[in-house]
Amino acid sequence: PVRVRFAPSPTGPLHIGGVRTALYNYLLARKLGGTMILRIEDTDQNRFVPGAEDYIRESLEWVGIELDESPWKGGPHAPYKQSERKPMYKQYADQLIADGHAYYAFDTPEELDAMRARLTAAKVPNPQYNSITRAQMRNSLTLPAEEVQQLLEAGVPYVIRLKVPRKEEIRFQDMIRGWVVVHSSSVDDKVLMKSDGMPTYHLANIVDDHLMDISHVIRGEEWLPSAPLHVLLYRYLGWESTMPQFAHLPLLLKPDGTGKLSKRDGDRLGFPVFALEWHGTDAETGEPTVSRGYREDGYLPEALVNFLAFLGWNPGTAQEIFSMEELIQAFSIERVSKSPAKFDQNKVKWFNEHYLRAKSNAELAPYLIDALKEHGIACEQARAEQIVSVMKERVSFPQDFWMEARYFFQAPTEYDQHVVEKKWNPQVSAALAVYAEALSSAAETTAEGLKTLFNQTMEAQGLKPGQVLQALRVAATGAGAGPDLFETLAILGTAEVTTRLQTAVA
Ligand code: GLU
Repeated sequence: PVRVRFAPSPTGPLHIGGVRTALYNYLLARKLGGTMILRIEDTDQNRFVPGAEDYIRESLEWVGIELDESPWKGGPHAPYKQSERKPMYKQYADQLIADGHAYYAFDTPEELDAMRARLTAAKVPNPQYNSITRAQMRNSLTLPAEEVQQLLEAGVPYVIRLKVPRKEEIRFQDMIRGWVVVHSSSVDDKVLMKSDGMPTYHLANIVDDHLMDISHVIRGEEWLPSAPLHVLLYRYLGWESTMPQFAHLPLLLKPDGTGKLSKRDGDRLGFPVFALEWHGTDAETGEPTVSRGYREDGYLPEALVNFLAFLGWNPGTAQEIFSMEELIQAFSIERVSKSPAKFDQNKVKWFNEHYLRAKSNAELAPYLIDALKEHGIACEQARAEQIVSVMKERVSFPQDFWMEARYFFQAPTEYDQHVVEKKWNPQVSAALAVYAEALSSAAETTAEGLKTLFNQTMEAQGLKPGQVLQALRVAATGAGAGPDLFETLAILGTAEVTTRLQTAVA
């Protein structure tokens, strides 16, 4: 059976790349009739950030990723939080030691620093605790057995490290990258159990993926360097035959392609890198910080999902608009690219416009009504629907309705100067005064009726309608551009338009 997992660490707000990872897992699970699991990887308690778990949960809920098994919902492999699984890991570290694949290391932090300093001084490119250096360190491979026993009995702090073979090619097949071959000399003797008895990410991750029957590990490219180590762990624990298939997703790059998109980029580049707004604290100053979120910035979850799906995947056709259901049908790991995906904020805006315009007027009206309420203006559903229907081609975000449509509720106090300078003159002004007069007793108040009346009035003044149209818009709305002018006037109502024109020509 297909069982996939999203395994975030609650070390802060979930980055948009994490949401993409969750999405790809979810799409594959749903496509293949599998199970989507969420596991919280919180073994590194120093990096634990309060609120991060709730935030992860809320982010996934908002974008519409449903979890079949999770810390919140439970499931056959509960608990789904590593800190609650702590007693389960030690036996596997012990087993690795008994089988000669792991060892105790008693080095103090000072000794480790000294080792790194020595290697750095000797210009060793990237200092590691490995098959070469471990020979000079204090561990159960170099110390006599009795001494190891004494140290353990005396309660001297230790970690358990994986014994990575000295000369071996480690290979595995990645569903996106094909064969990956890494020489063991480039792999560290990674710590599996820390001195506080907590497993590290590497051990806990492998043990849990095994115990939870995970069939596919789909995660970001940043975990590719850890994969050889994980392959060794599966092998040494005797689980190689049920090892999950790996798929390492392409990196997300900054819009200009100059490097990895990071959690810090959002505010600097002017767009959110989180699904939801995050309230944190500045690590240095301790001041409260707010990071923008797609939700609060007015993006619709459908738009974000559609956009994220295309960051690293494409359907192989020209179709760009996909609902979650359609993505599930179309998705395949084979069509995920291994080249990095550039983050294009214009594209996500484009998706948002699409999904916003696809909504009915009845669905959109509440956005306007709510914004109006905040400004102390009441508006009925029917009128709000009329307004959003003429406005929706002009807005990118729900909050734009208020910005773009406020003149329906507030007479202009300023007029677009550009239009005034070019289009306003005594003759135009006089013609508008006549139109205002005609409007006040107009029988036909539809857009069509108001337009006919306008054309007739202008002709009678010896003017072409085109000479006065823009001035009319500015006089009625203050703005130089907007939706269909006579629709706008019809919504405003003849009485209001008459008043506004009289004010403008006065
Ligand atoms: N806890 C890891 C993370 O934060 C999970 C990596 C993996 O999926 O193996 O991304």
